[in-house]
Amino acid sequence: MSIIDILNNNKVTISFEVFPPKKETNFDEVEKAARQIADLHPNFMSVTYGAGGTNNKNTAHLAADIQNKTSTPVLAHLTCVSSTKEQVASVVHTYEDLGIDSIMALRGDLPKDGKVSPDYTHAIDLIRDIKAINPNLCIGGACYPEGHVECERQSEDIQHLKEKVDAGLDFLTTQMFFDNDTFYNFMFKIREAGITVPVLAGIMPITKKRQVARSVALSGATIPHKFRRMVDRFGDSEETMKQAGIIYASEQIIDLISNGINHIHVYSMNRPDIAAGIIQNLSSIIDYDRIKK
Ligand code: FAD
Repeated sequence: MSIIDILNNNKVTISFEVFPPKKETNFDEVEKAARQIADLHPNFMSVTYGAGGTNNKNTAHLAADIQNKTSTPVLAHLTCVSSTKEQVASVVHTYEDLGIDSIMALRGDLPKDGKVSPDYTHAIDLIRDIKAINPNLCIGGACYPEGHVECERQSEDIQHLKEKVDAGLDFLTTQMFFDNDTFYNFMFKIREAGITVPVLAGIMPITKKRQVARSVALSGATIPHKFRRMVDRFGDSEETMKQAGIIYASEQIIDLISNGINHIHVYSMNRPDIAAGIIQNLSSIIDYDRIKK
């Protein structure tokens, strides 16, 4: 079942994200973690694509394993910033051959050496190419409640987002955010701009102090005072910070669902213990109106 069918069939959905190993030798370890996350019965799982297209074979391999061995629907990511059209077509065909019918179409971060593909400037070019290869594939795209880091004005970012959706996106997943009001404000603006596709709220459970700086650098997300105080108080104890981080993310999710935001995507980062903590905190809430896979 494609991701858009899942979103349309369920009032509440929860999905988890995993990333493929950088080294082939770590594949079994990552696959084991992915299987444990699948055992929690998310509505689907997504598998990221290495920056600049590195380890892309592992994305396909891991996504196919999850889908075939656990019967959890998958969303396989694909970035284009360092790829030629031929390389993109080859990955899309690999996904099709493996029975993967849903692709997260991303530009990818600009490489540090500045070497970008002459074939792809933005994700919209990739979306058009995937549509041209197979119009039946379900395609997701990224969006940024606080604006993408490269775009100075949020209004321009939303204009680009509208064009991207109109090019053929079925749904959007947000960048992580730690203050739900930022997300509600963004939702209001994109709906006003005429973007009507389902939006999955991206929630990142921060369970280690050192994750904070890294997550902010990567996403540009604002850290609310409440969150900062939590890290200041508990950040030096691994177990305590993990518990606090899972509870913070769970509270975000409860607030989102209470406010009618039904599709939650958790950046579970190959951590079955964190995914399980969230499910445990929310089991009755997310099972309400949810059809399990
Ligand atoms: P785009 O939609 O192309 O946007 C990038 C920038 O270009 C924005 O500032 C936008 O406003 C601007 N822009 C868009 N169109 C135009 C236009 N026509 N003219 C001028 N400016 C324009 N990275 C990975 O490497 N692998 C992953 O698996 C991965 N998964 C992700 C999943 C999610 C949910 C999110 C939110 C991000 C993910 N990323 C991943 C990171 C992503 O690749 C980066 O954020 C990247 O910098 C932007 O990708 P995009 O697809 O949003 O790009």
